[in-house]
Amino acid sequence: MTYLPKAAVNGSSSLRVLGNVDYRLARNVVVNEYRKGHLSRLDICDAHPELLRAALDAGENTQEDCPICEEVKLRLVSYVFGPRLPPSGRCVGSKKELAKLANPGRDLACYVIEVCLSCSWNHLAQAFSLTSKGSG
Ligand SMILES: [Zn+2]
Repeated sequence: MTYLPKAAVNGSSSLRVLGNVDYRLARNVVVNEYRKGHLSRLDICDAHPELLRAALDAGENTQEDCPICEEVKLRLVSYVFGPRLPPSGRCVGSKKELAKLANPGRDLACYVIEVCLSCSWNHLAQAFSLTSKGSG
């Protein structure tokens, strides 16, 4: 789980994580509604083709089965938003890239999305801010 905030700042002493929010609870509500039959796969397995491509190309493997199809392991995709980044965010493929984007004085908002490449299930897993200590 490279993209969890703690891992994101490993090896980079200048980065600090602020306001980490775990969306697991909200995610479990959706999964439970699906299991009870209140939601269909059409409702929840709607990953955008771009997101699926990002998961395939730059996604991080996890050891967790997809909660919906239970056929494959979930992948994590990280997007960052901030000054001089595209309005739709930048997909980050590595910790190094993330550290490079977090220049001093440039706070980044990071969103980690779990994606299933088999059934297109996707849900926000975590959101946090990265700030550089050098921002003085
Ligand atoms: Zn799945």
